[in-house]
Amino acid sequence: MISIRGLSKFYGANQVLHDIDFDVAESQVVVVIGPSGSGKSTLLRCCNGLEVAESGSIDICGSKLLDDGKLLEERQLNQLRRQVGMVFQSFNLFPHLTVLDNVAVGPRKLLGVSRQQAETEARELLRKVGLEAKADAMPASLSGGQKQRVAIARALAMKPRVMLFDEPTSALDPELVGEVLQVMKLLAKEGMTMMVVTHEMGFARDVADVVAVMDAGRIIEQGTPDVIFSQPKEARTRSFLQAVLNPVSGS
Ligand code: ADP
Ligand code: MG
Repeated sequence: MISIRGLSKFYGANQVLHDIDFDVAESQVVVVIGPSGSGKSTLLRCCNGLEVAESGSIDICGSKLLDDGKLLEERQLNQLRRQVGMVFQSFNLFPHLTVLDNVAVGPRKLLGVSRQQAETEARELLRKVGLEAKADAMPASLSGGQKQRVAIARALAMKPRVMLFDEPTSALDPELVGEVLQVMKLLAKEGMTMMVVTHEMGFARDVADVVAVMDAGRIIEQGTPDVIFSQPKEARTRSFLQAVLNPVSGS
């Protein structure tokens, strides 16, 4: 579903991705972990054309998003982006639209779906994320966890084939993290192909097929959660896990 080859990305003179090769199979859940600044967000953003890498190729959903450093042309890019849902740390809901309209607006405006059908589907998605009762609420009245669940429903409304999550629970109060992870778990169970940047190691352990560890712009190792958490090969993986799992005793 996603195939990345030789991906390198620079910000000015600063190389933030180094010759990355990576694959995500259909229905696979990949959790990307690694220290701040290691390039996790940049890698995700390259996968829906929000960032353009200088060299390498990305095949996604059967299209060449990036071909030897050349991005797909605008028209095809917009079509491809609809197949790749993205959820960010900051929920980015439209503040002036109700919850229902936040979810229904994309299909109506971008896919030409009728209002009635878009709203019917939006209600179904809100039921799925446990927020049917909030359909007429405004985003400002929701908790962070509820906002993020609306953001997930909004992404799903475009019927994406892949979902990218960039630290979806990092901005939430601890007691609200679980309700968002629960929704993501449900999606994984339904067979959604997902690439998830997160520091929630419990989620990685339970849900990931593959955990990929990034450091300084490289994927330094990848494997099943079992292998990565119990017998990591790389010293940098061990020290990162130590710091995340034991923040007090970590150096
Ligand atoms: P992560 O998500 O793992 O914390 P990022 O992908 O956000 O890492 O960042 C990787 C590196 O790229 C960091 O050194 C960061 O400072 C740099 N970087 C990210 N975005 C930009 C940008 N828009 N302009 C310049 N440098 C950036
Ligand atoms: Mg990031």
